[in-house]
Amino acid sequence: MGQLAEADIAWRSHWLKQALAVEGDVAAPLEGSDRADVCIVGGGYLGLWTALRLKERDPGLDVVILERDICGGGASGRNSGMVLSAWTKFSALAGLSGEADALRLVKQSAEAIDGIDGFCRAHGIDCWFDRAGWIWGATCAAQSGAWDDPLARLARHDYRPARPVSRDEIAALTGTTSHLAGVFDSSAATIHPGFLVRGLRRAALQAGVRIYEKTAMTRFGRRGAPVVETANGRLQAQKLVLAMNARAAAVPELAPALFIISSDDAISTPMPEKLERAGYARGPLMIDSRVFVSGYRVTADHRLLVGVTGGHIGFGGRVDARFDRPSPRIADMRRALGQGHPALADFEVASAWNCAIDRTASGLPLYGALRGNPDILYGYGFSGNGIGMSFLGGQILASLVTGTEDEWSGSALVRPVTRGFPPEPFRFVGAHFVRGAVRRRDRLEHEDRRPGPVTTWLAGLAPSGVTPSKANIAETGQ
Ligand SMILES: Cc1cc2nc3c(=O)[nH]c(=O)nc-3n(C[C@H](O)[C@H](O)[C@H](O)COP(=O)(O)OP(=O)(O)OC[C@H]3O[C@@H](n4cnc5c(N)ncnc54)[C@H](O)[C@@H]3O)c2cc1C
Repeated sequence: MGQLAEADIAWRSHWLKQALAVEGDVAAPLEGSDRADVCIVGGGYLGLWTALRLKERDPGLDVVILERDICGGGASGRNSGMVLSAWTKFSALAGLSGEADALRLVKQSAEAIDGIDGFCRAHGIDCWFDRAGWIWGATCAAQSGAWDDPLARLARHDYRPARPVSRDEIAALTGTTSHLAGVFDSSAATIHPGFLVRGLRRAALQAGVRIYEKTAMTRFGRRGAPVVETANGRLQAQKLVLAMNARAAAVPELAPALFIISSDDAISTPMPEKLERAGYARGPLMIDSRVFVSGYRVTADHRLLVGVTGGHIGFGGRVDARFDRPSPRIADMRRALGQGHPALADFEVASAWNCAIDRTASGLPLYGALRGNPDILYGYGFSGNGIGMSFLGGQILASLVTGTEDEWSGSALVRPVTRGFPPEPFRFVGAHFVRGAVRRRDRLEHEDRRPGPVTTWLAGLAPSGVTPSKANIAETGQ
């Protein structure tokens, strides 16, 4: 075990800096040859939950995680910490294998929130879990009712995950009258992403999982027993799990389903009085109904966290240096807050960062085995909604690794990779047009103006994100 150099801490997200100040040890990289029963590439939530589930099922299994950076260095240590179930994606889920399976997945995703809480309590992980609830709101008339489709379809199954809230009720709960309407889901929670991911790492080490950090997989063999190569070593395993998030786009078999775009977050300096005055000292987390959603929440140490989506687009799925730097989108965040909670728009920024998002066309993750090699498994495509979904993903991948036939391996999310987007360079060029149209439509709708037919058509091509928008309800197999 070693410690990170100062320069390797300074650029990181506020969450990770806070977490590393408490638990800053880094595992040694892989040098030379090693063997394991299971090798997991990626030390984010998905890789860690998978490792933990495997150890729970069979403590004797030798499980190794290879992480190119440090565990939590990716999206798991940089997200907004909003833990939501998947009911908003009911239509897309139903598109995979019908409403009965979709309902089961929605219920499992709600149980995942309790599961995270329960695991953290049992393992002494204080990740500031707070069942604050969630308001999915509309900051302009055109957004109003974005939630109608999934709620109406779920109500037919007698499942009601959220209730309508009026403008006045939203104002009473959050201090802002800018949300014209919305729905309130009391099951949602906020967490500290850094404490969660580094806590999971600690739990994994305690369970006997071996971790190599600062160890990038440079290639892997596709024939026979999986062999992973790194700069200074190689590891042979019986099963290989690729839990690489956006960097899955570097694997040719996984790339077709993926579209890479950044999300940006900023966190304020502690401001208890300002939050109190604004009526948002401890309110539900808020997300609007844009295609490129923006959201905000408060933290246990009285900060405001603001997030915006729809930033940089990755050419050919490349996650380059633009996805690992201070956010250049503070103005967009202030604009979104100006439309959602104006009293907070002038927040003092303590830290701002960005990170790549692994979007699929439907906004749903995929799991399965690489074609032609049942020993190489994958999980990716959380599309910005991965805290709760990766908890489920750990169960799914553990069942796939162990060859267990159960509700997890039989999940509708287990499916082959198919092309979700056009090939390059059409994907990159088209994505810029679509992103521009989404932003234009959004601006016009906030000015109570109707976008033209071309803008409407182009914006309608945008893949689903955290929530489906009224105009982009996806019902697609990928
Ligand atoms: C700004 C932002 C805000 C978000 N907000 C929310 C939110 O509020 N709620 C929510 O549910 N979700 C949110 N998300 C999404 C959520 O963070 C992710 O879906 C989730 O963390 C995915 O976990 P993961 O383990 O798949 O990915 P990651 O945490 O990215 O882990 C993948 C790991 O694989 C490693 N890796 C990749 N390639 C290699 C290689 N070749 N060799 C070795 N290691 C490799 C990476 O370094 C990385 O650590 C947000 C994401 C972002 C970027």
